[in-house]
Amino acid sequence: MEENTIMDMNYYCYNGKKAFSIKKFDCDSTGEFTNREEAVDEFVENLLVINKTQQKLYSERKEGVIFVFQAMDAAGKDGVIRTVFSTLSPHGVKEFCFKVPSSEEKSHDFLWRFWSALPSKGFISIFNRSYYEDVLVGKVHEFYKNDIIPDRMKNVDIIAQRYEQINDFEKYLYATGTRVVKIFLNVSKDEQARRFISRIDTQKKNWKVSPGDLKEREYWDDYMVAFEDMVNKTSTRNSPWYVVPANHKWFARLLVSRIVRKTLEDINPHYPPIEEETLKSLKDYRETLVASLGDKQLKTQEKQPKEFTNPGLISADILQQELINKQKIANDKIKNTGFKAVQKLLAQNYMIHSMSDIMNAIAAEEEALEEDTTPEENEELVLTPKEVREHVKELVKEDED
Ligand code: ATP
Ligand code: MG
Repeated sequence: MEENTIMDMNYYCYNGKKAFSIKKFDCDSTGEFTNREEAVDEFVENLLVINKTQQKLYSERKEGVIFVFQAMDAAGKDGVIRTVFSTLSPHGVKEFCFKVPSSEEKSHDFLWRFWSALPSKGFISIFNRSYYEDVLVGKVHEFYKNDIIPDRMKNVDIIAQRYEQINDFEKYLYATGTRVVKIFLNVSKDEQARRFISRIDTQKKNWKVSPGDLKEREYWDDYMVAFEDMVNKTSTRNSPWYVVPANHKWFARLLVSRIVRKTLEDINPHYPPIEEETLKSLKDYRETLVASLGDKQLKTQEKQPKEFTNPGLISADILQQELINKQKIANDKIKNTGFKAVQKLLAQNYMIHSMSDIMNAIAAEEEALEEDTTPEENEELVLTPKEVREHVKELVKEDED
């Protein structure tokens, strides 16, 4: 049976199978954690996996992904986006902030302005607000009543129709190669008040205070009904809603990192395979390049083309499968660190008897990787895993509103 505990992401996921009750939802929840220090390691790990998986997504060019963020003001959308997507390469991701529609946008159907923001295959679009505003602020203030409409639309329940149109739109996107994952950061009314007060009291946060936000707060109850209806009417298996408790920013960030990681892992992108013929011509080309260097030295890591040698006692295929199954570590880790670790064992004529031999070797290799990379070797100024970890730890500590 599928688990559905607070530790499990399914607990926060609405995919059309269970009803969402906003009254029963605990915005204060921190899941299985009692404090943010406990969440740091997983957050770091998630961000590193997100980074690596995005590179594959981009190279494969098979699927696009949209992460939609909706929330009441001061729920922490911007902070979540800034931190969780901070390890993505900018060339594969774009953020779109949807504000009050311009007069041109208003003169079209409500989905019109979103078409140009759809991601190309391999890209990620972040929708900071979205067409869901049309069933949130649009529903609360009944803006649609101001639209000039043809007679045939006069007796139509516009909001009910929009839910259907949104579901159709997302179904169409999914069927044509774009996933839509929706995240509702759910902050409580009291916590919003605290954050507004802090924005007023703290000079460097003053720029965020908007009288309009304070006005919208007066419609809080109507918004809650609109959010609940939105989740209940537009959650589907392929385009689920995640409702994230947002009173604790560190937990919201952790959970969103988990959602983004899982979404990318479900897509399971791979670097595109290279054609046999191309590979051969690359090998020929390599020979030419090596010859052009003459006596000059190749760097150590370039000297030997990598090839997987069978350790003898365990075949390479079984080894790889075992590593995936038993240790649940990502495929690329086996190919990179795992591969190197096995190579080193072989070079030392070490007989591999068990999986733990290999896991120990991988751990040692990882440690060496973290410590060994000196700035001189690291010509591309790529951060070492250790540096990335330190950087990411700062992000989860950051508590700016
Ligand atoms: P921040 O305040 O952090 O800059 P924000 O997303 O709150 O980010 P604002 O410019 O303050 O940006 O607010 C955007 C406003 O646009 C929100 O009040 C939102 O409800 C409104 N909006 C977005 N889409 C629509 C829409 N389709 N119809 C009416 N209002 C909309
Ligand atoms: Mg705002």
